[in-house]
Amino acid sequence: MTRIQQVWFPKTLEEAYKRYLSCEENGSYVSGGTWLRTIWEADHKTIPPHLISLENITEMSAITIEEEKGDEVLVIGSLVTLNQCLKNTLIQKYFPSLITACKQIAAPSIRNQGTLGGNIRTTFGDTLPVFLVLRGQLTWFNGTSIERESVQNWLANPVPSDGRILVNIILPIKKHSGEGNKYFSFYKKVGRREIFIPSLVTVAGSAIKGRDGTLEEVVLAAGGGVMVPKRLSNVEELLQGTNALTKEQLSLIYETCLMEYEPQADVFATAFYKKKVAANLIFSEWFQMMKGENDQIEGGTLYATES
Ligand SMILES: Cc1cc2nc3c(=O)[nH]c(=O)nc-3n(C[C@H](O)[C@H](O)[C@H](O)COP(=O)(O)OP(=O)(O)OC[C@H]3O[C@@H](n4cnc5c(N)ncnc54)[C@H](O)[C@@H]3O)c2cc1C
Repeated sequence: MTRIQQVWFPKTLEEAYKRYLSCEENGSYVSGGTWLRTIWEADHKTIPPHLISLENITEMSAITIEEEKGDEVLVIGSLVTLNQCLKNTLIQKYFPSLITACKQIAAPSIRNQGTLGGNIRTTFGDTLPVFLVLRGQLTWFNGTSIERESVQNWLANPVPSDGRILVNIILPIKKHSGEGNKYFSFYKKVGRREIFIPSLVTVAGSAIKGRDGTLEEVVLAAGGGVMVPKRLSNVEELLQGTNALTKEQLSLIYETCLMEYEPQADVFATAFYKKKVAANLIFSEWFQMMKGENDQIEGGTLYATES
C-alpha cells in the first residue's frame, strides 16, 4: 500500500500549531529530524503522514543576551543546532559545561542537523543535566501565548506530545561577585566507548567555593540512556556549606548518590553499574575540586573541566 507523506513548512508559530492541530494524531513536529529518523529506522515508531518542519520559523534560531529584572540572561532559540552551540562565543564564555555536553553528542554530521530543542524534547537528551544545573527555563508556544517553566518543573512531568512548540531556552548569566569566590562546574558523560555513542550515564554539577573553601549553591543532576534526568537534591544538601569533607562525609555522599540516582538497566549495563559510575564521577569531580585541582580560573568565571 502506498503511504502518502506530506511535509509542511510553516513560517510562524501560529501556522505550525494550527497545522499540528489539524493533523490530529497524525502529525509530528520536526526540527533536525536526527532523533525521529533514528526511531523510524529502528521501527520503534511508524512515520506519521504529516511532518511539520519547524526550520522556517526564524524567531527560533537566534542566540541573544537579554535583560530581565536587571539581570542578564542568554536566550537560545530551540532551532539552534548542536554545532552552532559549539561555535557560539557567548555560550563558550558563559556556559562551557554546555559546550562540553554538545561536543560529546553524536558525530559532527549529526550535530550539524540536530537541534537543542529536539535534544530537550526527547526528555532524555544529553544536554538536559546541564540545563538542570544551570537552572534553565523553557518557553513554549501553546497556540495563543508563550508559557514559561523551569527545565526542572517540565522534567518532573513531561507530557509526550501536547502540541506545544518549544521556542527558547533561557539561561541566567550569573555574576559571582564575592572576592576570592570560585565558580566550579563540570559535565561528564560515560558511554560504551569514547565518542559517537549514546550515554550510559551523564552527570553535571556546579558550586561556588568561597575563599575559606566553603561550598555554596551546590547543584547536581544526573541522567543517561533513556532516563529522564533529575537533580540529586539529597547529595546537594550534604555538600552545601561544607569546606573540608571528612572520610565519613565522603562515604555518606557516595552512598546517598547510589540511592538517589535511579537509572534504568538496559542491554548494556545494569542499573547498579550505572549507579556506581555516577557516584564515582561525582565523587571524583568533588574531590578534585576540594583539593583545588580544577581551580583554573579565578574569581567568578564559569568553567567546566574538559575531559
Ligand atoms: C548516530 C546518532 C547518534 C546520536 N547520539 C546522541 C547522543 O550522544 N546524545 C544525545 O542526546 N542524542 C543523540 N542522538 C539523538 C539526536 O541526534 C539528538 O538528541 C538531537 O539533538 C535531536 O535534535 P533534532 O533537532 O534532530 O530532533 P528531532 O528528531 O527533529 O525531534 C526530536 C523530538 O522533538 C520534537 N521536537 C523537535 N523540536 C521541537 C520543538 N521546537 N518543539 C516541540 N517539539 C519539538 C520532535 O517532534 C521529536 O519528537 C543521536 C542521533 C543519532 C542519529
